[in-house]
Amino acid sequence: MERYFWHLNAAQADGVACVVCGMDFLTRKVSSVAVGRSPADESQVFACREPCAARIADEAERMAREMRTATESDGGDAEALDDPVFCVDGHFGSLLRDLRTLAGAEALLSTADDVPAIRFLLSLTARHAETAMIRARLVLARTEGPKKGGD
Ligand SMILES: [Zn+2]
Repeated sequence: MERYFWHLNAAQADGVACVVCGMDFLTRKVSSVAVGRSPADESQVFACREPCAARIADEAERMAREMRTATESDGGDAEALDDPVFCVDGHFGSLLRDLRTLAGAEALLSTADDVPAIRFLLSLTARHAETAMIRARLVLARTEGPKKGGD
């Protein structure tokens, strides 16, 4: 996987220091593994094989899992159109799921540091922000009290 690492110091960007813990590979004999690239010049950057590379892998796995969960929770909302408004499968339930996804996207965006992940999260945000707006308006319309002044 090609991943960009941001906020690197000169040694990390040159591939002579761990991008996670900053360990200097020139002075310490630790085994290192290529984990991605520096966005500045596309050169490879490295992390200690243990434990830093494993930490990066865990983090990427967790992020992928959260993204999949967020994406899967989209499915099947469209056919819930006629359900009662406040039922968990109705617009209100879907709205809450959208809001949860947005909160999750916010949390992931604050730690995401590679462009493809950020772009994925932003498209997720745009989609769920839009459906949240539509659902909020539907719930508002459905729960509107009797109009004043008659018709
Ligand atoms: Zn390290």
